[in-house]
Amino acid sequence: MVFLLVFMGMAGGSIWHLQTSLGPTFLRMEHDNALRSAERVVGGLDAQLSNLNTLTRDWAFWDDMYQYALKPNAAFESSNMGVESMKNIGLIGVMVLSPEGAIVGFQGAVQSDAQALRAEDLTAYKAQLMAPLKEAQHGQQCGYLQPRSVLLFLCASRISRSNGSGEPTGVVVMVRELTAAALKEIENQSKESFQLLPLTQSTADEHWSEAALTHLPASRLDVNYSASALTLYYHLPDLAGKPIRTVRLPLTRALVEEGEAVTFRTARQMATIALVTGAMLLLAGHFWLVLPIARLKRDIRSIHKQKAWDTAVRQNRSDEVGALAREINGLLAVIHSQVQALESLSMTDALTGLPNRRHFDQRLADEIRRVQRKAQPLSVLMFDIDYFKQYNDHYGHPSGDVALQKFARVLRDCTRQVDLPARIGGEEFAVLLPDTSEAAALLIAEKILQTLRNAELPHAKSQVSRVLTASAGVASLREGVDAAATLLAQGDQALYAAKAAGRNQALIFSGLA
Ligand code: GH3
Ligand code: MG
Ligand code: MG
Repeated sequence: MVFLLVFMGMAGGSIWHLQTSLGPTFLRMEHDNALRSAERVVGGLDAQLSNLNTLTRDWAFWDDMYQYALKPNAAFESSNMGVESMKNIGLIGVMVLSPEGAIVGFQGAVQSDAQALRAEDLTAYKAQLMAPLKEAQHGQQCGYLQPRSVLLFLCASRISRSNGSGEPTGVVVMVRELTAAALKEIENQSKESFQLLPLTQSTADEHWSEAALTHLPASRLDVNYSASALTLYYHLPDLAGKPIRTVRLPLTRALVEEGEAVTFRTARQMATIALVTGAMLLLAGHFWLVLPIARLKRDIRSIHKQKAWDTAVRQNRSDEVGALAREINGLLAVIHSQVQALESLSMTDALTGLPNRRHFDQRLADEIRRVQRKAQPLSVLMFDIDYFKQYNDHYGHPSGDVALQKFARVLRDCTRQVDLPARIGGEEFAVLLPDTSEAAALLIAEKILQTLRNAELPHAKSQVSRVLTASAGVASLREGVDAAATLLAQGDQALYAAKAAGRNQALIFSGLA
């Protein structure tokens, strides 16, 4: 789970990084491209002014014009300011103004709207037309105007002698109409398709600024965005700087769309790679680590539950998991030997090395269960050393201990491998005899008592013998006797009967009166 989250986080992070770094780059490229498109279109409008300016300056430095401005004459007018000659050089109007601003000569032709250009259409801009006379203005002025419905443009130039001598004698103004053909030419040269609309107020998402050109001043572009289109609006100013027309330049957003597609494709590839890598690592981790460790855990739990410390966990691998399994097996072996040592300690009597009461009780219970299944005989012998208090008193406690060890030796020597001799009290012993009848058990008990006597451990204070003796009681499992406690109680009763009968003898429970 954590693995998956980490990988999804990594994928998300890199996609986010990709988008935040590529998105602005594409937007900047789109901005730069769009601004260049606008510059080409506005540059085309500016170039129209430059063309006309060249012509106007030619006329302004023409000596005949200089003379005409000083002294108007019909000959100059008829040969140069006739409607036909203006038409030849694409003019719709020519005006000559005196240095004081008075009209020296004017000729207006018919425009495409069938109306003729009027002198007052131009004199409305008198301040601008007279500006070329001021030194600072470099002697020329160009710009657009729209006196009525038709868009015109003009250039005004200071009239000087061709050699530059003498005072300026006025201003010559030339006017052209921005015809459909001129628009077409701008369109061809700029390779942009745009519309020249009446002045339109657009609601702009953004404003970009465009640098000043030769004649047109620096201006503001209104920008409208939609998901698939980008529209620029340029408001064309007239000579006085007042906006008169709007150029609408619609552009596609192919670049940004392509950029988004590239970003999306790359992001999808990155996400796929991250997910596949994550899934592969997850699967590898699951099968290579999680499953084997889960199996180790199961094995250890089952060993713990069954206390089967001698079992080993299974992981035959040469890597870290295998090493872990080997370490666990090492620990299990230690636990096994410790448990065995503890078990044998807790089941053994320290003085004689015989099984203790606990061991005896466990084994007795096991044997009773076994015998009940197989219907085999089972007997117990109970022993108590005679006058042992006196023995201790007379010979000392350490000698008593030695005597107990010797009796233990006798018990071991007189019993079979399957029998279980045990020390069940201070100087009380018992022997479990599987598969042994009461009669056979009595014989074994007597043999033990005889062997003890034969050992001839002197007992000066015994009232029954010169040597150490013991008494014994014998009991066997019979019909109706199936509890260990009953069997032992019967053995005890027989033992006490033997004591009462004078000690140093063995009696069987079933033989008691
Ligand atoms: P009886 O013939 O009736 O059995 O007489 P008894 O003296 O043997 O019986 P009693 O139960 O009065 O005394 C048992 C004695 O066994 C008392 C105790 O000091 C002694 N004894 C018990 N455990 C040990 C032991 O571990 N070492 C020694 N040396 N003596 C022990
Ligand atoms: Mg006793
Ligand atoms: Mg005793």
